[in-house]
Amino acid sequence: IFETVSKAPADIIFALTADYKADPHPDKVNLGVGAYRTEEGKPWVLPVVHKADKILVEDEHLDHEYLPILGLESFRKASAKLILGADSKAIAEGRVGAAQCISGTGAVYAGASFLAKHYPFKQAACYISKPTWANHRAIFEGVGISVLEYPYWDPETRGLDLKGMLATMEGAPSGSIFLLHPCAHNPTGVDPTPDQWKQIADVMEAKGHFTFFDTAYQGFASGSLDKDAYSIRYFVERGFEMFIAQSFSKNFGLYSERAGNLTIVTKTPEIKDRIESQIAKAQRAVISNPPAYGARVVSQVLNDEKLYSEWEENLSTMANRIISMRQALFDELKALGTPGTWNHIVDQIGMFSFTGLTTPQVKVLKEKYHVYLTDNGRISMAGLNTKNVKYFAQAVDDVVRN
Ligand code: PMP
Repeated sequence: IFETVSKAPADIIFALTADYKADPHPDKVNLGVGAYRTEEGKPWVLPVVHKADKILVEDEHLDHEYLPILGLESFRKASAKLILGADSKAIAEGRVGAAQCISGTGAVYAGASFLAKHYPFKQAACYISKPTWANHRAIFEGVGISVLEYPYWDPETRGLDLKGMLATMEGAPSGSIFLLHPCAHNPTGVDPTPDQWKQIADVMEAKGHFTFFDTAYQGFASGSLDKDAYSIRYFVERGFEMFIAQSFSKNFGLYSERAGNLTIVTKTPEIKDRIESQIAKAQRAVISNPPAYGARVVSQVLNDEKLYSEWEENLSTMANRIISMRQALFDELKALGTPGTWNHIVDQIGMFSFTGLTTPQVKVLKEKYHVYLTDNGRISMAGLNTKNVKYFAQAVDDVVRN
C-alpha cells in the first residue's frame, strides 16, 4: 500500500545534534540546539525545579488521573498572569482565556488550528518574520493557512529592518495574521525597542491585523520577566485581541516535559468562553488532555512567592552566563583582529546570535573544526563556555579569512 511514500527530510536541528553526538572529536562544539548548558557544557536542572520535583514526589495527594481537557487550572491561570502581569486589567475583566498545550509548539499549533477553522477572514495569510523559527511555517502550513514573510533582519546593519517590516504590514490585506516574537527573537537575537513596538502596534491597529505572539524566552532577554513581557502588555493595554503561545522549555529547563500554554486575550468574557470551548473540542481530538508533570512543576513555582524569587535567581544565572559568553566571544574575535564588525555579538539578546557567517563557512566549521551550527549562521550562545570559546573564535577567524 505504501510503496509511493517518499522519505521526508530530517529535521535540521535534531539532525545536527545527532551528527554532533556521533562525532568522536575531543574538541567538538554544539552550537545548534537552543538548550541551556552549564560552564561544563552539561544540561542544567534548575535548583528551583529540583525543589518543586521533591515537593511533588512527597505529595501523597497527587495521583495520575487525567487532567481536564484544557489542562491544570492553577498552571493556566499562573501562566496568563506571568505574561500579562499580576495587575492585568484584561484578566480582572475576565476576558483572558488559557489552554495548557504540548509546550510552545503545541500552543502555536492550538492557536493556528483554531484560526484555520474559526478566523472570519478565510483567505487570511499568516505573516512570519524573515527569518524565524522553522516550525512556524510548518505549523501554519500544516493547518492549511498560507504563510508569507515580513522582512525582519537587515544584513547591512545586522539589526532590525523596521522599515521593511512596517511596509509589509501596511501592504498586507486587512485582517492578516502576524506572528510576532515578543522578546529574544529566534534566530536573530534582535528585538524592537519600545518606540518601534509603538510603530508596529499603530500599523497593526490601523490595518486590523491579528496579533499572534510566540514567547519562548521570557526571562532570557532583559533579565526581568516583566520587562520581557513589555510588548505583549503594551499591545493588551492598547486593546488588541490576541493569542500568546508560551513555552516553559527554556526558562524552566523543562524541555522534555512539554509545558506550555496558549493565553487568549479577547474582547469579552463570553467570547473568551466560546473560544476556550472550541479549543477544548479540538484538543480533545488531538491529545485528549495534556500531560501533568511539567505543568505541576511550573505551577508549584509560579504560585509560591519564595520559589518564584528563587526561579528569578536561576534565570539570572542562565542569562548572565550567556551574556558573559557574548562578551568573551567578542573579546576573542577582537583580540584576533578577525575581519568584519562583531558588535552585534554583544548587542543581540537572548539565547541566540545571528553571526553573519555564511553557509559555506558553516560547512568548514563543521568539517574542519567539528563545530556544529545551523546553516544560517545562528549560534546558541549557551553552547559556549570558558573552555571552548577561544577554540571557537579561532575557528571563526580562520573561516572568515579563508
Ligand atoms: N517558539 C520559538 C520561537 C522557539 O524558539 C521555540 C523553541 N525552540 C518554541 C516556540 C517552542 O519550543 P517548545 O515546543 O520546546 O516549547
